[in-house]
Amino acid sequence: MKVTEHLVQNAGQLRVSVEIIPPKRGARFQRIQDAIESVIPFNPPFIDVTSHSAEVMWEEMKDGTYRKIVKRKSPGTFGLCAAIKYKYNVDPVPHILCSGFTREETEDALIELNYLGVENLLLIRGDSKYDKPIREGRSANKYALDLVCQVSAMNQGKYLDELIDADATHFCIGVAAYPEKHFEAPNVNFDIDILKRKQDAGAHYAVTQLFYNNDHFLDFVARARAAGITMPIIPGLKIFTTREHLTVLPKIFHTDLPDELVDRIMAARDDREVRQVGIEWAHRQSIGLMEAGYMHLHYYIMQNTSPFVQLMERLRGAGIGSIYLPSAKNPGLWPGSQVQRELIVDQGRCSLVCPEVVSVIP
Ligand SMILES: Cc1cc2nc3c(=O)[nH]c(=O)nc-3n(C[C@H](O)[C@H](O)[C@H](O)COP(=O)(O)OP(=O)(O)OC[C@H]3O[C@@H](n4cnc5c(N)ncnc54)[C@H](O)[C@@H]3O)c2cc1C
Repeated sequence: MKVTEHLVQNAGQLRVSVEIIPPKRGARFQRIQDAIESVIPFNPPFIDVTSHSAEVMWEEMKDGTYRKIVKRKSPGTFGLCAAIKYKYNVDPVPHILCSGFTREETEDALIELNYLGVENLLLIRGDSKYDKPIREGRSANKYALDLVCQVSAMNQGKYLDELIDADATHFCIGVAAYPEKHFEAPNVNFDIDILKRKQDAGAHYAVTQLFYNNDHFLDFVARARAAGITMPIIPGLKIFTTREHLTVLPKIFHTDLPDELVDRIMAARDDREVRQVGIEWAHRQSIGLMEAGYMHLHYYIMQNTSPFVQLMERLRGAGIGSIYLPSAKNPGLWPGSQVQRELIVDQGRCSLVCPEVVSVIP
């Protein structure tokens, strides 16, 4: 099923999806399998699997010289997607990158995924420092927008070469969005304009970069809506789990950490306490987003699922969770919230339409 169909089908009850990363080259598959199995009880309608371009590494030789090595650290995105689909019966969302792949390689990969029955893709640029030289006769997508155009064209039966009677694909296209702007964008409006162009080119939904202040997300969505972006924008959350996140998250993801969160992490006595603060913060953010009507939340868990499981148990303990279905007996959990008001109005018949669900099924 397509992500946009899941969003419509699940309107009115909290559903959670997750993003995982394939194991490092040569690492045991069992670990990621255990990670998937620990999230399955929370009924994720889809699971994203990251993709990574080849990186350049330098290995020191015995004679003191260096050997250049180019390799992908974490291959296996498509194999993992096949396991998610056929072993766990969950829709996988492979990430497809511009960087490090030619358009010809991308077309081949999309044909493989189409044959595998994969219906959703998240199209992103990747890190442009991993762009590789393009051989003659090959071409590359520079921006995610170019990749959206390529997949949209395939959805209309247009491949790189003109083919007679080519079969159209039917991929549901997801793209990235940045509540605090992409670090290379001159300002938020520029980024929003790019997002609008992705929608116009055929994107069906967006998932945001992680954020720790819900106001950033809500402001961003308001600005995106004002700019004519109607596709669902799914909030992406990451649980703070180590003190190192204080520097790593702003450095890698360019996110601003609220004073209160920083103070509480600094005051934590050990790693266990840091993790508890992180889970509490994610809990508060999740409730805040639900209060604002966002009933589909996406969590970046990579391979460490235990904080996520603790968060879900906590939400479930409060009667909120992906297995929770509002009923006439239990019509709402957030006194005075929009969610509660609408459920009460509707006598608990679960017809709440979250503001992010608009009719955009491709
Ligand atoms: C939900 C999510 C999942 C991710 N998954 C992965 C992953 O699996 N693997 C990975 O390597 N990385 C991943 N990333 C990181 C992502 O690859 C980087 O953030 C990357 O730097 C930008 O990707 P993008 O798709 O937003 O790029 P783009 O949309 O191409 O934008 C990149 C920059 O260029 C600008 N820009 C875009 N189009 C144009 C244009 N036509 N002309 C001029 N400027 C333009 C934008 O404003 C932006 O500043 C993910 C990010 C998110 C939010």
